[in-house]
Amino acid sequence: MPLYQHAIVGFGIAGQLLVCELLQRGIEPTTIVILDPNWMGGALATDYSQVLSNTPWWKTRQALSTYPPWCDKALMEGDATFQTNECMPVGSIAKLCLQTALVASNKCERLTTTCLDMKYEGTTWSLHHTFGTIQAHRVYLTHGAQEKKLELPVTIPQIPLHIALDKTLLSRTVTSTDLVLVIGCSHSGTICLDYLHQLGIPTVGIYNTTTPFLFARDGHYDGIKEGSEQIADAILRGEHSSTTKLIAYGDSFPICKMLQKATKCIQCIGFERKLIGCQNLSYKYETAQIDGPPRRYGYGIAFPGMTEQNGKWFPDVSVLSFQEQIRRTLPQILLQE
Ligand SMILES: Cc1cc2nc3c(=O)[nH]c(=O)nc-3n(C[C@H](O)[C@H](O)[C@H](O)COP(=O)(O)OP(=O)(O)OC[C@H]3O[C@@H](n4cnc5c(N)ncnc54)[C@H](O)[C@@H]3O)c2cc1C
Repeated sequence: MPLYQHAIVGFGIAGQLLVCELLQRGIEPTTIVILDPNWMGGALATDYSQVLSNTPWWKTRQALSTYPPWCDKALMEGDATFQTNECMPVGSIAKLCLQTALVASNKCERLTTTCLDMKYEGTTWSLHHTFGTIQAHRVYLTHGAQEKKLELPVTIPQIPLHIALDKTLLSRTVTSTDLVLVIGCSHSGTICLDYLHQLGIPTVGIYNTTTPFLFARDGHYDGIKEGSEQIADAILRGEHSSTTKLIAYGDSFPICKMLQKATKCIQCIGFERKLIGCQNLSYKYETAQIDGPPRRYGYGIAFPGMTEQNGKWFPDVSVLSFQEQIRRTLPQILLQE
């Protein structure tokens, strides 16, 4: 059975940054194995590619430019396509990161397969995947997250989030006779409310915080946040009142009424890490160490760093913050026997 020093599960943005960081620290490429079933660049490329990020090109550039010469082609392509302050569709961020990481990792072992389960046996990890088993000394889980879903008491046709966040696809899914329920008024929910308003669709947004649109507004998250902030403020000023109503989750009477009347529903209640086997893993974001047997670590949207804002903790979800989290914790990890 092949034995590697480093096994990376998932080649989305987090896995890509991680392999670049390992190689930059002089880790021999042939000691690294990467598992991913599709090598497309992760969720930004496969699910949300048309969503306009508010990450300007210079920030993605800053993250990538620390990996010369692997990044050279991607930087040239980015410079030719985007202005420094221009925000990019998330699919373009994914494409340029993937381009860099594929060059970097060309001598690593790259397996097109899904990790199904893992066990710590003796002193090494056994990773069972679709086509066999490999062994590794250290395991890094960068396998991403999926949309959370509520079980609703009534059956309402659901619009998947990747469709709701693409205005063209959304416009083909709803008509002005619909009443659309948007459950969750954080970043994605706010964008959905805005698109539905632009399409003139009657919409009800349900929030479960003390006031609507209570999300981190610190400029740290380079996802869809700043756009969401402006939209949230416009809705609160009443600028969307021709289409949009907001209801608190605790207001049971209007909620029941809306559940009966709604013709479509979009759930925007956040993300949860994907499962590998049936393991429900927890971790310490300070060290990236996953609880349980030794030498198993997590990064990316599944295991993000955390920032405190006014007593509330928010996950750090962006290319730059994944990179920071890896750089802060990796030196210590590599010292561990
Ligand atoms: C609408 C939207 C907009 C966003 N905008 C931004 C933005 O502008 N900038 C930004 O930085 N972030 C943005 N984000 C956050 C974004 O989702 C994450 O930054 C990024 O996709 C997370 O990267 P990741 O590598 O952790 O996971 P993923 O991108 O999900 O990658 C996980 C990879 O693991 C693989 N995998 C999964 N399970 C297994 C398994 N069992 N075995 C092997 N491989 C596996 C998958 O095939 C995939 O390639 C946005 C998110 C959303 C939803």
